[in-house]
Amino acid sequence: MRLILLGPPGAGKGTQAVVLSEELKIPHISTGDIFRANIKEGTPLGILAKSYIDSGKLVPDDVTVDIVGSRLNDEDCRNGFIMDGFPRTIPQAQLFDKMLKECHTSVDAVINITADDSVIVRRLSGRRMCQCGRTYHVENNPPKIEGICDVCGSKLYIRDDDKEETIKERLRTYREQTSPLVDYYMKKGLLLNFDGTKPIEVTTREILDSLKK
Ligand code: ADP
Ligand code: AMP
Repeated sequence: MRLILLGPPGAGKGTQAVVLSEELKIPHISTGDIFRANIKEGTPLGILAKSYIDSGKLVPDDVTVDIVGSRLNDEDCRNGFIMDGFPRTIPQAQLFDKMLKECHTSVDAVINITADDSVIVRRLSGRRMCQCGRTYHVENNPPKIEGICDVCGSKLYIRDDDKEETIKERLRTYREQTSPLVDYYMKKGLLLNFDGTKPIEVTTREILDSLKK
């Protein structure tokens, strides 16, 4: 199954992607995670991406589409994938469609998770990340031991872009550049809408049920 997770920052895309990836046995591809791994390693891509990410802007389309293209060539993407945070602009979506068409395939469904700005600000302000891709929240979804990942035992960290000022800019970026994708995929008949303010497990169940239909 080839899925896209769409929604504003903090809606719960990454949280759902980890569970859906395990349930559906398809890889979770997060462009944000790829950029953060490159920043940590100090690669040229990481250095370029950091300036955009830290200011709440999007990394340029050509750079982003290239990294997705090369990730899709990996063997584990053969039977599908969950795209988390990609595409984020109309040109990215058009290039992605083209890329898939060249491989004689297409997207099966777009899972649109929604939450309003006040929920998002609270969520991102309390978010804690693990390098293994899992995401926690100090109040809503705390780890069993404070500051430590339940699954891999690594120390959790706070993202540099989860600061109030950057969060506001990321919400502006979402509204201006990413939200038109809701209409784009609705017109293609691929959009499935979910209320991201329900408990995590409820949303997961609703997504899995609607994918079965
Ligand atoms: P996104 O990938 O869309 O930016 P995340 O999955 O990282 O969002 O979630 C943002 C924050 O909200 C995290 O701290 C996460 O633990 C928390 N969270 C995610 N889904 C829910 C939910 N349904 N209810 C409460 N908190 C949630
Ligand atoms: P995320 O982890 O999805 O919240 O992404 C973190 C940041 O990485 C975003 O605020 C962007 O700066 C950048 N980013 C992630 N995915 C994309 C994308 N598809 N296009 C452009 N920039 C992206």
